[in-house]
Amino acid sequence: MSLVDEVNSRRTFAIISHPDAGKTTLTEKLLLYGGAIHLAGSVKARKTTKHAVSDWMEIEKQRGISVTSSVLQFDYEGHHINILDTPGHQDFSEDTYRTLMAADSAVMLIDVAKGVEAQTKKLFRVCKERGIPIFTFVNKIDHFGRNPFDLMDEIENTLGIHAYPMNWPIGLNGNYQGIYDRATASIELFEKDTSHGQRKLASTKGSADDPIFKELLDEDVHQGLIDDIELLDMAGDEFDMEKVKAGQLTPMFFGSAMTNFGVKPFLEEFLRLAPPPQPRKAKEGVIEPTNDVFTSFVFKIQANMNPQHHDRIVFMRICSGQFEKGMTVTHRQTGKTLRLMQPQQFLATERTIVDEAYPGDIIGVFDGGTIGVGDTLYAGKKQVTFQDFPTFPPELFARIRAKDSMKRKQFLKGMTQLAQEGAVQIYENLGSMESYIVGAVGQLQFEVLEYRLKHEYGVDLEINNLPYTVARWIQTNGHDYKDLKNIDSAMIVKDHKQRVVLLIANEWQTNWIVERNPDFTFCTTPDEM
Ligand code: GDP
Repeated sequence: MSLVDEVNSRRTFAIISHPDAGKTTLTEKLLLYGGAIHLAGSVKARKTTKHAVSDWMEIEKQRGISVTSSVLQFDYEGHHINILDTPGHQDFSEDTYRTLMAADSAVMLIDVAKGVEAQTKKLFRVCKERGIPIFTFVNKIDHFGRNPFDLMDEIENTLGIHAYPMNWPIGLNGNYQGIYDRATASIELFEKDTSHGQRKLASTKGSADDPIFKELLDEDVHQGLIDDIELLDMAGDEFDMEKVKAGQLTPMFFGSAMTNFGVKPFLEEFLRLAPPPQPRKAKEGVIEPTNDVFTSFVFKIQANMNPQHHDRIVFMRICSGQFEKGMTVTHRQTGKTLRLMQPQQFLATERTIVDEAYPGDIIGVFDGGTIGVGDTLYAGKKQVTFQDFPTFPPELFARIRAKDSMKRKQFLKGMTQLAQEGAVQIYENLGSMESYIVGAVGQLQFEVLEYRLKHEYGVDLEINNLPYTVARWIQTNGHDYKDLKNIDSAMIVKDHKQRVVLLIANEWQTNWIVERNPDFTFCTTPDEM
C-alpha cells in the first residue's frame, strides 16, 4: 500500500468519559468486533473481577481503576484502529490531557441515566480546545435511562455543542428492543442477549416501513418511535460534516456496551466518519501525514511496565512518513541521533515487535532516560519541533522522604523516573537533600507514587502534606529571588529546570504577595515564562 492509503486507513482516537460510564466495557467490545479477542472477558474472567484487557498494573487491579493510558490496536474491515485508552479517574487528568494530544478524534461516552458528568466536561473541554471531532456514544440503554431529547439538550447547554442523533433507541427503560438508523430509515432489532455480552449479537434488519416491525414491536413503542423521528427531522440540526470536523456538531449514537447492543453500527459509522491522521503543527510549519519524512512526538513515558526488568518505554505518535525497525532518528531536544530498536505495539500486556508503522500509529521504544514527554523525534535533515504540551498547575503539595535513609539511591532513581513519566511534578527542597517536594493535581497521585516506589523500587515513603494550594513560577527580571518580600508564609522550591517556584497557601495570599513584589513576574505555569 502507498503511504497515502496507509494514512487513510488509520483511525486514532481516545474514549473520554466519567468513571463507570462503561469505557472499559466499550473498549473491550470494540476489540471483540475487531476480532482482536474472541470472547469478551476471556482475557480475565469479568464476572469475578472488574478488569478488562487494558489493565496491566498491579495498582489498577487493586483499586479497580485505570491508572495509566494504554494503547490498543486492531484491524476492522480495512481500517487500522488505534485506541488510546485514557485513565478515567479525575486525579489523573494530566496524563489524560497528554494522551488526547495524540488523538485525531474522541468518543465521548455518556451514561444514559447520568448524562454529562464532571470528568466528561473537563475532558470535553480539552478536545474542544484542540478542535478535534467528537463522537458521542450514549451507553447503558438496556437500563433505566433519561429521555434522549433531554440528553441532547443537556449536551448542548453544558458543553456548547449540538448533537445529531445518527440512530435512535427503540424502547428505553429496560424494554430496549432495537435501534432506528436515521440515514437509511431502517430498524435493527436485536436478539436478546443470552451470553451476557460475550458474543456478537445477531439482529433483524429492515426498512422502518416494513410491516414486520409493526408486528414485532409493541404498538405504543412503534408509535413513539415514529413520533420521535418526526420531531427530530423537523426540529433537529442538519447533519453537516464540516461542523463535525470543526467540533461544533457531535454525531450521537445509542447503545449498550455490556450487551453489545448498538456497538457494531456505532463502530462502522464511526470508522466511516472519523478523520484519518491529521496534519500537525510544528514550529517549522505544518507537517502533513503524507510527507515522506518520518516525524513523531512523545506523549507518554512509562517505567517498569515489566517490574522484573525495570524497563522504561517511551510512547510516540507517528505524525508523518514511514517508520521502519532500526531506523535512525534525531532527538530534537538533545540533538542526538539514535536507532529505534525493538519498537513495540501493544494489545494490553501482549507486546509484539513491529517492523513498520505509519502516521496515526503509536509505537513504544525502550529508552534509558534521555527522552522526555513532549519531545520530537524525526528522520531526515530538516529540523522539526512539535509544539510543547501545556503544563497543568499542581494544586496539592507534599514533602516526601525515604523512611530508610539507606535507600536514598533507589529513592532518587525512582523519583526521577516517575517525574519524567509525568506521574508527579517534583521540586527541589532548598533546605534539604534528604527530601523532595512533590506537586500533584489530585491526592490519588500521591498514593500511586507511594505504591509504585514501594513495589518498583523497594522504597517506603514518608509523605507529609503541605498547606499550599498554589504554585507560581517566578520570573526574576534581573533581580535576585532572595529579594522577594513578604513571603514568610510561602515556600521557595526549584523545579527540574532550576526555575524558582513559590508555593503559596491560597489565591488571596498569592494576590497579596504579587502586589508587594512588582519587580517580579508571577507565572501560573512554566509555559508562560
Ligand atoms: P469505566 O469505569 O468507564 O471503564 O466503566 P466500566 O466499563 O468498568 O463499567 C462500569 C460498570 O457499568 C460495570 O459494572 C459495567 O458492567 C457496567 N456497564 C458497562 N456498560 C454497560 C451497559 O451497557 N449497560 C449496563 N447496564 N451496565 C453497563
